[in-house]
Amino acid sequence: MRHKEEGGRRASEIGDLVEAGAVALSDDGDSIMNGEVLRRVMEYAQMFDIPVISHCEDMNMTGAGVMHEGMNSTLLGLDGIPSAAEDVHVARDIIIAELTGAHLHIAHVSTAGAVNLIRQAKRRGIHVTAEVTPHHLCLTDDAVKEFDTNVKVKPPLRTRDDVDALIEGLKDGTIDAIATDHAPHRRDEKEVEFNQAPFGISGLETAVPLVWEHLVESNILGVVELALKMAYNPAQILGLPERVIKVGTRANLTVIDPRQKKPVRVDEFLSLGKNSPFDGWVLRGWPVLTIANGVRLE
Ligand SMILES: [Zn+2]
Repeated sequence: MRHKEEGGRRASEIGDLVEAGAVALSDDGDSIMNGEVLRRVMEYAQMFDIPVISHCEDMNMTGAGVMHEGMNSTLLGLDGIPSAAEDVHVARDIIIAELTGAHLHIAHVSTAGAVNLIRQAKRRGIHVTAEVTPHHLCLTDDAVKEFDTNVKVKPPLRTRDDVDALIEGLKDGTIDAIATDHAPHRRDEKEVEFNQAPFGISGLETAVPLVWEHLVESNILGVVELALKMAYNPAQILGLPERVIKVGTRANLTVIDPRQKKPVRVDEFLSLGKNSPFDGWVLRGWPVLTIANGVRLE
């Protein structure tokens, strides 16, 4: 009875959130370790027809890990985060999504194993969607060899095989979206030893040119696919109203100049978070105009 009452209270709290405009429930940054709690959250989300966005990480397996567990972590003498820490959580979340019928959205997929699990789940008709970050598509754990704390992210940068699997997943529709997992940090927070630094990359302002340079210029994704993965699909996943470009409607669009080629300059970021490992990278395909709800953003 007590459980039921509590459940009812939680459901009405979530109802209030949805009424106030919440479009999803998420545990990002603090993985739900208890399967029973996740089941309840998914049941509520299902009730209100919104997705559960899951940060898939078995915190016990992560332990004190600071980078991908593999050859590089051994060579560098750093504690590793095994791929299995992500894979077991993705598997569990998919099973609970199947049980509840909820829409599960998996944030920042980083392993080949997770891509396979999501591919199989989709084939079985389970309502699961997934995203990948630009940094997981453009970097491997080799980048950690420089001990640049700006490549310390969660989930960690993985191996070439994982990156190839992520790209394959993007191409065949297993991975629906590219999203930044934007995590700005102050300079002084990152200017510490690798072990001490916080996880995260300030990724918002490099997302489009990174994807353009690495995926569009190399013919892995077409321009329309880029728009689908970075704009249309994310809006669909969150159940946002469809945007159309039409006379008389408020514009919501980004204009990209494919010929604009210039280096990333973190000092020019609008974000106060300058923690980017891409400083100095020369990229093509910069956004040159963004209009949100009819207002031009500077
Ligand atoms: Zn996360």
